[in-house]
Amino acid sequence: MRIFVTGGAGYIGSHVVKALGSLGHEILVYDNLSTGHSWAVLYGRLVQGDLANAPFLEATLAAFRPEAVIHFAASIQVEESVREPLNYYGNNVANTLNLLAAMDRCGVRNLVYSSTAAVYGIPETIPVSETAPLSPINPYGASKVMVEGILRDLAKARPFCYIALRYFNVAGADPECRIGQAYAEATHLITRALKTAKGEYESLSIYGTDYPTPDGTCIRDYIHVNDLADVHVRALEHLMAGNGSDVMNCGYGHGFSVKEVVAAAKRVTGIDFPVLETDRRAGDPPALIADSARLRNKTGWAPRHDDLEFIIRTAWEWEKGNRKENR
Ligand code: UDP
Repeated sequence: MRIFVTGGAGYIGSHVVKALGSLGHEILVYDNLSTGHSWAVLYGRLVQGDLANAPFLEATLAAFRPEAVIHFAASIQVEESVREPLNYYGNNVANTLNLLAAMDRCGVRNLVYSSTAAVYGIPETIPVSETAPLSPINPYGASKVMVEGILRDLAKARPFCYIALRYFNVAGADPECRIGQAYAEATHLITRALKTAKGEYESLSIYGTDYPTPDGTCIRDYIHVNDLADVHVRALEHLMAGNGSDVMNCGYGHGFSVKEVVAAAKRVTGIDFPVLETDRRAGDPPALIADSARLRNKTGWAPRHDDLEFIIRTAWEWEKGNRKENR
């Protein structure tokens, strides 16, 4: 199958490209390399382009004639979205409209879309299922809710089908260690903890210890990036088999607190790195855990790496080998 992948040079995108490429699919990655890296694209062709450049985007799509699109390219940091909402609505909503309009004109009718657990805001029940109310508490989550609404409307108006995958907390690296998380600034907990263990930061801040959770720190459902890559392969197969549009949570169904993750990172690295307890970070819900029954039942997906220490170990191997000259 020919698959057009926006953001395929990024962290999750590059793992999905690897999974699809190793199955023999023909891939074109469209990425502006703002946070992605050309070395991370292990299969297919990379076109450096911006989703804001609508004519170039459409010309690239029209020339490739894909059967499906997977749309990763987006801004993803909760705190930054609170500070810079216009950037988030511009990049995540307006640029997605460019992509959907180009797909519409080129007759590309299948999309796998990267959504997020941030669409739920502070869920009333945990684990949270796809039918829970959508009430995001930050512009990042709100931008993803908007796009999900646009996709729903488009699927009513056109012979267009999509699967929106609501990611919980993605972490770890490919065990072969050729790709992994490589942002200029580490903001995600596990990466930040490991870079602190490496000495790149003086200390790790725990953002808030007064949440209504057993140890007072936020709880998240951490999923290994290769399990999430497998979710995309299965979601695409499900979509192409004509099962119609859907929305699916992607997580393991249980969570760990920030303090538990920090303890696991210390065990895996063997380094007792400095930790500070600081104020809450803007926009963080206390707990997010996925009810992923729909994903498992409909696509047959099952986790292979549901093990926090394995997740951290693969991220640690990547961090240790990820020297600057590789970038
Ligand atoms: N967190 C933290 N210190 C850090 C980074 C994150 O305490 O240096 C906390 C953050 O407040 C949240 C959890 O770890 O409760 C997961 O944050 P992350 O940025 O990894 O993912 P998010 O849940 O925001 O997508």
